[in-house]
Amino acid sequence: MKIAVLSGKGGTGKTFITVNLATLIKSVYVDCDVEEPNGHLYFKPENIKEEIVTVKIPVVDNTKCDGCRKCVDFCKFNALAYIYNRLIIFEEICHSCGGCSTICPKEALTEKDKKIGDVKWGNRFNTKVYSGFLNIGEETGIPVIEKLLKKVEKYKTELVFIDCPPGSACSVMECVKTADYCILVTEPTIFGVHNLNMVYNLVKVFNKNMGVVVNKCIEEFNPVEKFCKINELKILMKIAYDEKLAEINSRSNIAVLESEKYRYIFKKLFDLVLKEINNETITYT
Ligand code: SF4
Ligand code: SF4
Repeated sequence: MKIAVLSGKGGTGKTFITVNLATLIKSVYVDCDVEEPNGHLYFKPENIKEEIVTVKIPVVDNTKCDGCRKCVDFCKFNALAYIYNRLIIFEEICHSCGGCSTICPKEALTEKDKKIGDVKWGNRFNTKVYSGFLNIGEETGIPVIEKLLKKVEKYKTELVFIDCPPGSACSVMECVKTADYCILVTEPTIFGVHNLNMVYNLVKVFNKNMGVVVNKCIEEFNPVEKFCKINELKILMKIAYDEKLAEINSRSNIAVLESEKYRYIFKKLFDLVLKEINNETITYT
């Protein structure tokens, strides 16, 4: 079973929720926030293995190219330009669609591999930890996410927690479409509602079941409650703002291992998620 954890923006507590759930239960943790992966900082996994992630990039043979510019017109990402009798390829904005090399009438374009990042995996406590790392300046992290999700496909009978990228871009869709259930993490502010609305609409497109966790709650007006009521969204849990918790997080420690209070809170959250999914019961580690 795959549970995706999303938030409309970074800093909401998405990784905090995912890491703590994945620590509590014997499970697989997948950090798909490949532009800024930080789950591994909490887990500090051991026995690390890694693989590089590559994409295909066109290479031109200028001795074959006759300057017809068919490839330039074809590329909708403006990654090609024909200047001073030479074809220039802007690798950073190429989306690796392969179209230009297919349509070149002179077979002047071939493809080469370009490294855009890595996936690494290891284990810690009872959790298998997978993380994706996108190199700085790369156009898209989707190939890294695809590789990560492919790697964890083998865990068919285990719980897999997916720590999604923040926001509602294509990279988040990659994660949501494989999930059986989605946890939407938000904050009790107007800005939080705005971001919650984005991920709520995204998850709705994929027709997935979902519930909300409101993080950093204080005893004041909470606009998230109204939004959830209007949209018939279940609030699974409200987690109170807690300076002690902020300190645990700032040291990259895992709350359920540091505090009985948070162990209890996350057990309760997980029970609620399971109840939402299928009334399953589970043994805590
Ligand atoms: S389509 Fe082929 S021949 Fe035409 S400009 Fe591009 S690389 Fe050169
Ligand atoms: S592979 Fe696709 S995106 Fe890249 S340069 Fe060719 S047409 Fe453009």
